[in-house]
Amino acid sequence: MPELPEVEVVRRGLAEHVVGRKVAAAEVLHLRAVRRHLAGPADVIGRLTGRTLTAARRRGKYLWLELDSDEALLAHLGMSGQLLVCDPATPPQKHLRVLLSFADGGPQLRFVDQRTFGGVSVEPLVEGVPATGGGAGGVATRTELVPAPVAHIARDPMDPAFDAAAVVRALRARRTAVKRALLDQSLVSGIGNIYADEALWLAKLHGNRPTASVTRKAGLEVLAKASEVMAAALEQGGTSFDALYVNVNGNSGYFERSLNVYGQEDRPCRRCGTPIVREPFMNRSSYSCPRCQPPPRTPHP
Ligand SMILES: [Zn+2]
Repeated sequence: MPELPEVEVVRRGLAEHVVGRKVAAAEVLHLRAVRRHLAGPADVIGRLTGRTLTAARRRGKYLWLELDSDEALLAHLGMSGQLLVCDPATPPQKHLRVLLSFADGGPQLRFVDQRTFGGVSVEPLVEGVPATGGGAGGVATRTELVPAPVAHIARDPMDPAFDAAAVVRALRARRTAVKRALLDQSLVSGIGNIYADEALWLAKLHGNRPTASVTRKAGLEVLAKASEVMAAALEQGGTSFDALYVNVNGNSGYFERSLNVYGQEDRPCRRCGTPIVREPFMNRSSYSCPRCQPPPRTPHP
């Protein structure tokens, strides 16, 4: 599953290479890739053909291209989905699922997916959640249009309209553990398992801490750290695609060099030297420093 910085790299690539171009033809090469578009493949093709792509947008890990028809082409990247910008002469990739050709005869947009968990759909644009992150009692300001399946997704910490104070208020009102809250896409989007662990280590907070016990200051700190660590990854990953190749799985090398805690079991903490511990977390793992991030005496059940 790509993390937010990788999705942002793809968004920037799409903004540069396909926005402003008119779709001449759309082809669906595998039915599973359009299964989320309930009206079927002919309807997808009809809604794309002749349309101009007007913007490349993202919220959290959701990525879409706006069309000049008040609809959007939503990409579901799944586990292995890739969006490639390729010269029309490039032979079809083995797992090519959807192909857009443009009226200018230039590079095509190809959706390639080895495991077919991903796909594309054409969606109406609706009003998303307000900038408050969906928290109760917030003032509904600065809504923007998003594809219908994204309507419940909160803004991410890198969004200019992200309201950290409102998100912290909503987070502290939840009866859950802080790491679960950070992964809740209706509260704050785009923070995956890796960035949650890194942000919690930087903020010296254990993920099992009940949200009610997290101070306002600590809550703001962990969100700021999440944003910082994603910005650093983006800086390193942002140059990893070349002119005609936008690849969601492009590895920036960030993970090997820069992770403080994620995947670092038994290695010394970079702050205090205590070995990092791994704990099971929702079929995955959580990593933390037992000294810098003392586990709560009474974790949230
Ligand atoms: Zn430590």
